[in-house]
Amino acid sequence: MTDTCAVCGENPSVIDRGMPHEWTEYLVEERDLTRPFHGYRIPVCADCDGSVDPIRKAYVGGGDPHGDDDATALLDALVLDNLTDESPDAP
Ligand SMILES: [Zn+2]
Repeated sequence: MTDTCAVCGENPSVIDRGMPHEWTEYLVEERDLTRPFHGYRIPVCADCDGSVDPIRKAYVGGGDPHGDDDATALLDALVLDNLTDESPDAP
């Protein structure tokens, strides 16, 4: 568990956002991310929370980041070491 934002990699996170399955698959394929044991969450700081709107859109739109420039730009810049792998049952 990290307390640092995965978008800017600098500020303390204030919230974490769920990651759509398709996004995890994209990161596994494109950036050699290890598959999560439970499911990745994305810690974000207050400054970066607005920049993760593509995540919320992804949940509505089906989730495939391929062809979505906003989503792929965000994914390509994520600090993978800062992602957290948490059980949905975790408090
Ligand atoms: Zn940030």
